[in-house]
Amino acid sequence: MTAAAPAASPAPPQVLLAHHLRQLKLPTFLREYEKVATEAAREGLDHVRFLLRLAELELIDRERRMVERRIRAAHFSAVKSFDTFDFTAIPSLNKPLTLELARCEYLIARDNVIALGNSGTGKTHVCLALGLAACQRGFPVSFFTAAGLVHQLMEARDERRLLKLQAQLAAVKLLIVDELGYVPLSQTGAELLFEIFSQRHERGSTIVTSNLPFEEWTSVFGNQRLTGALLDRLTHHVHILELNGESYRLKQSKARRRRDPRPPDEVAAAADPETGEIIRAS
Ligand code: ADP
Ligand code: MG
Repeated sequence: MTAAAPAASPAPPQVLLAHHLRQLKLPTFLREYEKVATEAAREGLDHVRFLLRLAELELIDRERRMVERRIRAAHFSAVKSFDTFDFTAIPSLNKPLTLELARCEYLIARDNVIALGNSGTGKTHVCLALGLAACQRGFPVSFFTAAGLVHQLMEARDERRLLKLQAQLAAVKLLIVDELGYVPLSQTGAELLFEIFSQRHERGSTIVTSNLPFEEWTSVFGNQRLTGALLDRLTHHVHILELNGESYRLKQSKARRRRDPRPPDEVAAAADPETGEIIRAS
């Protein structure tokens, strides 16, 4: 007589639960349920409140993960917010309008934003902060420099995937085109960029930053008629931010020099050669 093989013992419920929660894509639920169960027992919470607490944790985490995903997808050159922006440093910038824009209602109205001003005045910082605010409020964003966007459009055209890229750019809720004006565009580049602005007109918002006043945009697009048509579309529903003043970087380095009037090489010479720490004579 042969002994019957022992029946496979059923998997412990924790293993099954972990499996099901993974299938259901509830990672926070899985990570937190034991801790929350202990809390619930200690506080005498009933089952419904125990589940409610877990569901709330999952929702909060899911929202955070989605914001992070949108930020990654936006390809920002840096992640900056208005928390680190000093409005007193740039009195020409309309602070109430800027903060109103940070509430993102212009995205629902499909308005555009144009930030104009000389170099170093915070245009990129402001458009990054508006982009971040949009990601946090659930809007998909794409960030480009004008030169980078034109480069990608030309490459897509050469590789016969221009239509696909155009469709992607038309679908995004907020397109940010930074630094229009630093590099003059080729005729093809100008036409491709014009097409993007045209396709987005009244369909989605675009933020453009430029160091050039509108009168000089022809020098970027190399064609008065095209520039006129582009400005016509872009400025149809637009909020204009003016950032004119001294470069923030320059002002900061001047302030540093005022605090330490020694020439930079002398300051460097006073650095600890091992740690690089600045040794200051007291
Ligand atoms: P622009 O795009 O107009 O040339 P940036 O936004 O690149 O200027 O600003 C240059 C640097 O100075 C960046 O590091 C930016 O974060 C910082 N900066 C500019 N303006 C401010 C400001 N008002 N408050 C805080 N940081 C600022
Ligand atoms: Mg810039």
